[in-house]
Amino acid sequence: MPIESGNCIMCGIVGIVGKKHAEKIILSGLGRLEYRGYDSAGLFVSNDDTQHLVKSQGRIKNLEEKITKDINGTIGIGHTRWATHGKPSERNAHPQTSSDHRLVLVHNGVIENFEEIQKEYLADDHFDGETDTEIVVHLISALMAKESLSTKAAFKKALSLIRGSYAFALVDTQDKETIYVAKNKSPLLIGLGEGFNVI
Ligand code: GLU
Repeated sequence: MPIESGNCIMCGIVGIVGKKHAEKIILSGLGRLEYRGYDSAGLFVSNDDTQHLVKSQGRIKNLEEKITKDINGTIGIGHTRWATHGKPSERNAHPQTSSDHRLVLVHNGVIENFEEIQKEYLADDHFDGETDTEIVVHLISALMAKESLSTKAAFKKALSLIRGSYAFALVDTQDKETIYVAKNKSPLLIGLGEGFNVI
């Protein structure tokens, strides 16, 4: 169960791979990060058969109320957002996804050159929201498609193109065993467990 490390503002991210009921651990982790401040929250969880992306504006409690019994997984990432680009809303809450919904990304921090990236690499893309984060997940997806890169290679290349502060956690929905992480200026902690790992 690797968590791959490459290279935040306040708010928080949580992720877990390799344990049942990832959703519960993520909600509890987000609760512990609540003191950092946020305007919305969201999570992604997946198991062998299903995957769910759930977001809500306002308190973590609002998110918790949406997590019904069928929403569970053995891998997942969660986020509390403090909006820097794009208003606080459910649409702009994280996780953000690629257009085909294959890639799922949470981000703490600010991408300074997201407009340049959008113009240079993503001129034809449609975006659901207004966040700098959505540009990054689209960029990773574009690099995978246009340059036939693996998820890890595309993530690393995207990191070499962006400027700013970040803690990222990325899931490729085609791989239920890996959370890719990277940090620059923002803190990110990795916990290695027996049969599971957490961030
Ligand atoms: N810049 C990102 C956004 O506005 C992330 C903000 C945060 O760190 O929560 O969505």
